[in-house]
Amino acid sequence: MSGLDRLAALGVVVADADLASLTTYRFGGPARYLAEPPDRVQLQQVIEARAHEPVLVLGRGSNLVIADSGFDGLVIRLTGEFERIDIEDGVAVAGGAAWLPSVARQSVEAGRSGLEFFVGIPGSVGGAVRQNAGGHGSETRDWLESADLVDGGVSSAGPGELDLSYRHSNIRSDQVVIGARFRTEPGDVAVGRELIASIVRWRKEHQPPAVYNAGSVFRNPPEDSAGRIIDSLGLKGLSVGGARVSDKHANFFVASPDASAGDVYRLVQLIRDIVRERAGVELHPEIQFVGDFT
Ligand SMILES: Cc1cc2nc3c(=O)[nH]c(=O)nc-3n(C[C@H](O)[C@H](O)[C@H](O)COP(=O)(O)OP(=O)(O)OC[C@H]3O[C@@H](n4cnc5c(N)ncnc54)[C@H](O)[C@@H]3O)c2cc1C
Repeated sequence: MSGLDRLAALGVVVADADLASLTTYRFGGPARYLAEPPDRVQLQQVIEARAHEPVLVLGRGSNLVIADSGFDGLVIRLTGEFERIDIEDGVAVAGGAAWLPSVARQSVEAGRSGLEFFVGIPGSVGGAVRQNAGGHGSETRDWLESADLVDGGVSSAGPGELDLSYRHSNIRSDQVVIGARFRTEPGDVAVGRELIASIVRWRKEHQPPAVYNAGSVFRNPPEDSAGRIIDSLGLKGLSVGGARVSDKHANFFVASPDASAGDVYRLVQLIRDIVRERAGVELHPEIQFVGDFT
């Protein structure tokens, strides 16, 4: 019996667990094992039991396409104490599972500014650090003081050490961001609330809501925007199975409730091929494909 099977027998880990409901696309197959540790003791227990099992650290699943066959490994999804957010002496201290829009709102209500952009990104602090998430003129690295990572031991690293750049970090798939500290600046609560409201309004007008998609599909090529290129080729509305290029934003691919991960995968390949052929631009996915798509 493997260490993870032992933890499954104890109820600490769930075997053959549903993942679809844990992602914004709402599709994809099961995980061989799912652990949802609420604290560091249990996280450590899971990591020690892991042996050589492949690992996926799952945040809010807002940047992922999980294969229809699922993930044949251990999924770690932080819960409990990792969802905490505290604003202490002008620093936002948040657990790896903290919800970014709440970090934005809590920081504003504490009279601090800088993190308002997080309100438009429906992910977790861990996902934002791993992806250097950004929008509305800010990126995670602009405000990150340090992140705490666990991969056996615990270490702390700043944005330079994590090599944060456009939707990139050097965080490995088996490293878990358990928390982060963000600097903030003094702010006016009313001004911060208005900024938050304007970001939310802008998102509603320009993007589909945060279900049945995973945000921007492709990274923007240098000095251009993937959405602009796809739109300029008249590809809004193009579909494969239940996946479709959004009419609101050409770099968002929306899924119908009966769509499969395979539909999104094939639509991504199709759009990439058309853009390469007609515009001479090579697009690279920003969304991450997890599992087997062959
Ligand atoms: C409607 C919509 C709008 C979006 N807008 C934006 C935007 O403006 N800007 C932007 O950058 N993104 C945007 N996104 C994409 C997504 O929200 C971000 O990439 C977000 O940072 C992902 O966080 P997550 O918790 O959902 O990560 P997941 O999707 O769960 O995972 C993404 C990656 O992060 C890793 N990861 C997650 N948690 C941890 C952790 N605790 N420790 C280590 N690794 C971890 C995963 O292993 C995976 O590699 C949008 C998505 C949607 C659906």
